[in-house]
Amino acid sequence: MAETFDVIVVGAGGSGLAAAYSAAEQGGRVLVLEKRPQPGGTTGIAVGSFTAAATSVQRQAGIDDSPESHIEDVSKFPPTDIEARNADAMRAFFLHEAATTFEWLRGLGLSFVGPSPEPPNRNPRMHNVVPGAKAYIAALQLALQQKGAKLLANAAVECLLREGDRVVGVQALVDGVTREYHATRGVILAAGDYANNREMIAEHKGEQYRAIEGINPFATGDGHRLAKDAGAQLVNMDVTYGPELRFVPSSKRPFQQWLPASGLAARFMGAVATRLPSWMMRSMIKRLLVTWQHPENALFDDGAILLNRDGQRFVDETKYPDREIALASQPDKIAYILLDRRLIERYSAWPHFISTAPDIAYAYVADYLRLRPDVARRGTSLDQVADRAGLDPVAVRSSVHTYSASLSEHDAKKLPLEGGPWVLLGPVKAYFTTTEGGAVVNDQMQVVGEDGTIVPGLYAVGQNGLSGMILWSHGLHIAWAMTSGRLAGIACMATQDR
Ligand SMILES: Cc1cc2nc3c(=O)[nH]c(=O)nc-3n(C[C@H](O)[C@H](O)[C@H](O)COP(=O)(O)OP(=O)(O)OC[C@H]3O[C@@H](n4cnc5c(N)ncnc54)[C@H](O)[C@@H]3O)c2cc1C
Repeated sequence: MAETFDVIVVGAGGSGLAAAYSAAEQGGRVLVLEKRPQPGGTTGIAVGSFTAAATSVQRQAGIDDSPESHIEDVSKFPPTDIEARNADAMRAFFLHEAATTFEWLRGLGLSFVGPSPEPPNRNPRMHNVVPGAKAYIAALQLALQQKGAKLLANAAVECLLREGDRVVGVQALVDGVTREYHATRGVILAAGDYANNREMIAEHKGEQYRAIEGINPFATGDGHRLAKDAGAQLVNMDVTYGPELRFVPSSKRPFQQWLPASGLAARFMGAVATRLPSWMMRSMIKRLLVTWQHPENALFDDGAILLNRDGQRFVDETKYPDREIALASQPDKIAYILLDRRLIERYSAWPHFISTAPDIAYAYVADYLRLRPDVARRGTSLDQVADRAGLDPVAVRSSVHTYSASLSEHDAKKLPLEGGPWVLLGPVKAYFTTTEGGAVVNDQMQVVGEDGTIVPGLYAVGQNGLSGMILWSHGLHIAWAMTSGRLAGIACMATQDR
């Protein structure tokens, strides 16, 4: 006999846990199925920014803001060709709901620092959860447990069960055993993005992007596949956030992951964090920056070069996305960024930083040498720095010589690499951060089919239900994951029990 629930949620990342908790708040019997051994998804490795207007935190900071002005400002973030494809009405609806979601999350005991400015937003709107995005997962999971909902890990949903047009449940592989679960009110797809699904990327974005990986290796687009199989309309599947260069993460857990994300200790941390002097907060957040942020393009415009694992230069570093595409076909798909004395000096102080989360913190060469010794090493000679990075010094010397000799005396834009000390940063890889394609949904998060009618019993949230929105600017993906989850839980429980 298949177990029966009111609501089944596919995926225990940010949007899935929000949807599950929201449905449980309405009195629903809820099952969450998560394919990984633990909840979290991409949400669990994110920085944690949540951008919204007219929040209580803004009011406490004396900022008078409104969703209407946010709606105007947000359209200035994407390039015009991307903005032309944005789903304006849905985005406006979302931005009107975001502050309510923010207060709902604060009600779970989550603490935020900020708000931080991010132009062209006219007001500071970026709220950063403390100590990091893992706190969303911990708080929602705890709240869900207290409502008596069931969460199964190692439970990959393979297909949807249908009765006629209606989605009535799922089939999942749970600890290696195939099981069926029935939902009387609805199935909510919350399975994240497809940044690491090579087939989907090649099909929608182009064959040349096939080799580029997603930051989250488990972001395989299962929800998109399930939605498509059910007849959903998928839009903007070619739009991606990235590819961009990022430092390969350390094999050690980042500092923030060690901090308590739930329980009394986390509340204490939150209370302390909001009272910490801003320089101390910045230094904490800087650790996150050097974990995931990408090296600024300005580094390459200023003359830094990329060397592959064999010490060879392989591309014009200033050309995007050729650089990322070329990097993905190098040995082990990795490269190193070489800085000479001039670049080390330049990238040691504002306004020349290696990476940033705008207006939160900036990381310079010294920060990388101190906080990420696994991706930053210094040497007085080229041979020494190459050796420290495990590269062939002869090949590195030859690459630098050939590059510097190739620069025209009249090309003032680029300067030759001159002399030590040297710094080699890396390995870096080209990654997709996330993808912007998703199912079309209505304001109840019900999935809309190719024929324009809803697919009964099926909902999509977070990256599965982006509905044509392209969420440029920091903090909108998490705001959407949580908002769409909250709304789907309410809507699903408001439908008639079958
Ligand atoms: C490094 C990094 C930093 C970021 N920082 C920010 C930030 O600060 N602010 C912001 O707004 N956005 C940020 N983003 C983007 C944002 O984190 C994500 O877009 C958002 O959290 C996605 O939430 P989600 O619930 O849709 O997906 P996820 O959180 O990825 O959850 C999907 C879950 O579904 C599970 N799953 C998948 N397939 C199945 C299946 N078949 N069966 C069962 N379970 C399945 C997955 O394992 C996962 O747990 C960042 C992204 C990255 C990569």
